Amino acid sequence: MFGVFAIGAIWSATTYGVESAVDRAVTRDALEDAQLWGSHIAQRVPDLENLIETGRPDTAQLEAMAEMRAVGNIFRFKLFSPDGRLAFTSDDMFRARYTGVAEVADPAALLVAATGDANVKIFRGSGGGGLFDHYAQVLIPLLDAEGSQRAIVAVYVDQTQTSAYFEESFSAFGMMVSVFCMLIFVVPSLAFYLQRIIAQRSRRDAEFLARFDPLTGLLNRREFTKQVSEVMAEGRLTCLGYLDIDHFKSINDTRGHAVGDDYLAHVAERIRAACGPGDLVARFGGDEFVIGFRATEKDGVIERIRDILKSCAQDVQVQDVRISASVSIGLADVAPGDTLDATLKKADAALYHAKAAGRNDFAFYGNEMGEQLRKRRALEDRLREAVQSEHFDIHYQPLVCGKSHALIGHEALLRLSDQDGHPIPPSEFIPMAEELGLIEEIGNWTLRTAMQQMATLGQQTMLAINLSTVQFESGELVNTVREALSETGFPARLLELEITESLLLDDSTFVEMQIDALKEMGVTIAMDDFGTGFSSLSYLWKYGFDRLKIDRSFVAALDENPKRSREIIESVVMLGAKLNMKVTAEGVETPEQSALLSSLGCDVLQGYLYGRPSALAMTEPGKLDDADRDAG
Ligand code: C2E
Ligand code: CA
Ligand code: CA
Repeated sequence: MFGVFAIGAIWSATTYGVESAVDRAVTRDALEDAQLWGSHIAQRVPDLENLIETGRPDTAQLEAMAEMRAVGNIFRFKLFSPDGRLAFTSDDMFRARYTGVAEVADPAALLVAATGDANVKIFRGSGGGGLFDHYAQVLIPLLDAEGSQRAIVAVYVDQTQTSAYFEESFSAFGMMVSVFCMLIFVVPSLAFYLQRIIAQRSRRDAEFLARFDPLTGLLNRREFTKQVSEVMAEGRLTCLGYLDIDHFKSINDTRGHAVGDDYLAHVAERIRAACGPGDLVARFGGDEFVIGFRATEKDGVIERIRDILKSCAQDVQVQDVRISASVSIGLADVAPGDTLDATLKKADAALYHAKAAGRNDFAFYGNEMGEQLRKRRALEDRLREAVQSEHFDIHYQPLVCGKSHALIGHEALLRLSDQDGHPIPPSEFIPMAEELGLIEEIGNWTLRTAMQQMATLGQQTMLAINLSTVQFESGELVNTVREALSETGFPARLLELEITESLLLDDSTFVEMQIDALKEMGVTIAMDDFGTGFSSLSYLWKYGFDRLKIDRSFVAALDENPKRSREIIESVVMLGAKLNMKVTAEGVETPEQSALLSSLGCDVLQGYLYGRPSALAMTEPGKLDDADRDAG
């Protein structure tokens, strides 16, 4: 607003400035013309005094005046007596228009006579008897040689062209000046204005960030805590829900973080849509969402929860990627006197329960769940502590030749026990270590320690070590393996790394490069738990594994569904032979299974029948015959 006003003011000032500059130039020009013309008339018109006295020009005087028509831009003139009375008025042809001397003095002529100063007046528009747009009326005294006034002459100068010329040049200059002024004014004010907008925006952003989660637009933890505490204090909070996306980590790992982020926003939208207007929805970070259900019957809450579960379980297209996922929800009722913190812990325990019960479902908190959550927390603590003080152990399970059943190597299996010495199954602590971001450190320790132990025992047999997909993320794996090999002196050709198919899901060249580099060192790569995941032929072809490990569920199924399992195992062995991969069968528990698997052509067998994982597995240091070597 102010800017518009200022620009207007600059414009008017410039226009006014140009106009008065033109007027001044025109005035000076007209005065010069008039003075020149006045001196001409004084010299050329004979007996001027007589003409002024009588007001009647004679022929000689008229001829002299007619000749002067060509001089300058003068288109009319008047002669006054030194006392200011009009004596002669010319027409455009410089002929006399009236004759005789006026009775009364003309005030303007009188003024000039009195002061001796010229008087110039500029007329614009339809003056000059309609002839000229712009003309000047100049009154000057005509002086004699002694400097006394002979007459006053009024000269009318056509300044149309002169003023047009001046106007043109002054306007161009004025335009430059006004553009310059505008720049001087406009640039800083624009900068100021922009700065204000930016400041306003960043203040708004900061205010938003202080209260909301930028990714989903939901409340953040702080704002949620503030708002929900108020609702709780008024006794209007029915229940709290803790929601978490099932296997979100693998979506993030395999599909990339951008897809993960978009998927989070999608889930936030689904939750929002299913909740009532009075419910409070927040993202606490990662894939954790919290809902405060306000003043609703429990049935209403369950209905909303079911809506959320249903809509989140539907496939969704995110950035050209189809995502099939689900969420789990833990719920805790709010009783009078409950604190937010305690209720959140209960909802979290219920969530853990819902996850353990198979996911894609909800669970209300029951008293027994507190105990489970306590256990989970204890496990988390134990795991962190174990990483700090290397409480892990490695057990080794024998691998035997499919034909001779001679020992050809071991698979290293990680072991951890709780404070009381009870073993914690790897299926519990490994996923948790992955979740807590501890697996890389643990995995590196396992690699070094297993190779070290094997090398110390002088074992010349194969060592298989499991890798978590997470160990491929930092890009450090290849170096870690290389260093461990050189530090321990364990031969690379005896090391086999087992990976699972989930690693290959995203088809990333990053993983491919690492696998290639490992193979380059002479390390072999096995595809673990084959048959339980996607078992895509394209992975097998692309990554060129050295071995397939048939999951033990197929071996176990030989007892229940012999025909079908046998066919599957046969096909895998054939596939291995065609693609030049060795085949290991896991979970061999009975001599019948062993005999069958041998007859089907499995290269290596592994299972309780040959030995449980144990710290003492290495009884007979490596004596391999040729057939065994071949199987490994
Ligand atoms: P896995 O790699 O498939 O390891 C084989 C699992 O089958 C081991 O379970 C082993 O004890 C068990 N097993 C071997 N023979 C038999 C049998 O005849 N019958 C039955 N019922 N089970 C048998 P464990 O030691 O509990 O390990 C479970 C999983 O934990 C492993 O499955 C592996 O995926 C993971 N794991 C173990 N150690 C490590 C490790 O150091 N790093 C990583 N990333 N994962 C590990
Ligand atoms: Ca394995
Ligand atoms: Ca396995």
